[in-house]
Amino acid sequence: MRNEGDVNLKKRVLNAVFFVGIFMSFSCGINDLVLGLGILSVVMTFACGVITVGLYAAFRKGVNYERISLIVAIFLSFAFFPAMWFITGGSYRSIPYFIIINAGIIALLLSGWKRKLIVGLYLICIGIIMVIEYRMPGMAADYDSRLTRSIDLSFGLFMCLFSVVVLTAVLIDGYSDELNKSNQYYAVLEERNREIEAKNRMLEKSNEELKKAKEEADKLNKLLNEEKQNLQILSITDDITGTYNRRYIVSYLNNELAASRQKEEKLTVALIDIDNFKTINDKYGHLYGDYVIEKISKTILGNLRQNDIVGRFGGDEFLIILPCTDKEEGHAIMERVRKKILEIKWDKDMVVTISGGVREVKNDELENLLNELDRMLYSAKNKSKNLIECNEIC
Ligand code: GH3
Ligand code: MG
Repeated sequence: MRNEGDVNLKKRVLNAVFFVGIFMSFSCGINDLVLGLGILSVVMTFACGVITVGLYAAFRKGVNYERISLIVAIFLSFAFFPAMWFITGGSYRSIPYFIIINAGIIALLLSGWKRKLIVGLYLICIGIIMVIEYRMPGMAADYDSRLTRSIDLSFGLFMCLFSVVVLTAVLIDGYSDELNKSNQYYAVLEERNREIEAKNRMLEKSNEELKKAKEEADKLNKLLNEEKQNLQILSITDDITGTYNRRYIVSYLNNELAASRQKEEKLTVALIDIDNFKTINDKYGHLYGDYVIEKISKTILGNLRQNDIVGRFGGDEFLIILPCTDKEEGHAIMERVRKKILEIKWDKDMVVTISGGVREVKNDELENLLNELDRMLYSAKNKSKNLIECNEIC
């Protein structure tokens, strides 16, 4: 792949070749004119100069430099120098110097297969010219005097030295410039690379910090959720008994009523109350009363099934929801609970009993159900206490 530096260098070389070509053409023309080396030689060298100026103008106007290079190489190698060889008298005169310079110019201007092709053809062309000169020795025009010969050869030699120096210097300087430029470019790239690496490290650090912050936030979120759950549980729990509070058990009952109506499932509800609880409070104090309420709630919970729900309905009252249960089963469960409570051994000299009402729901509304349960509880209290009433005979 060709880079921009390579293209710039070629343009500089081409500029130098034009400069050398134009300078050589016109100074050689003047030299030939002054030394009287023949009008044809003067015209040819000036013509070469004019053509070179024209090509240079085309090059400046933007004609592709590779095409211009090829034109220059072909023109010099196969038109101008072979013609000049025969016009100026071949190897006896200064033309071989310029032939050598032209080989250098071809090598500078062209590259790849074009360079190989043109140089190869050029060598063949020179070889043919040498053979022709050997076969036709008379074509070599001699100089008028030794002085003219010496001046012409010296001038040719000087021109060749001058051209070699100019072209080599341009090539080396151009190469150094491009090398410096690419080194600077490389240094800038390395600097950018270091900056990008530093930014990468910063980003990685920020990423780590963000990760840690996210972990912290996740932990806090977890704690918050746990706290929220605790609060939710607290908001529906009675603090002494650990059963549901009145608000929750009533709303739960309301939902159960709707669900049992919809699914046409049986539902039985019980309301129980501790008998003579005021007396316990009065005799043993409020704290002991709390203890009795707690112990009785645990006994109720321990003697129900997994899906049964208990809530503290009032001071010493509990509402018990027995899903998928008819009145017989419900009554039996509550009887079992009553007996278990009766069997509790208290550290005070006392017996604690409960009374209650059990009702199997029959399209009841909440208010109506609670009133019915209240009525049955009242009836049990009035009858004897330590009694569980049922809405129909169980
Ligand atoms: P009955 O057999 O007719 O139910 O008589 P009782 O004495 O139990 O009367 P009632 O159920 O009406 O009285 C309930 C008492 O419970 C009234 C109140 O002072 C007491 N109480 C209500 N809440 C609490 C509580 O949280 N702790 C304690 N220790 N006592 C409470
Ligand atoms: Mg009571």
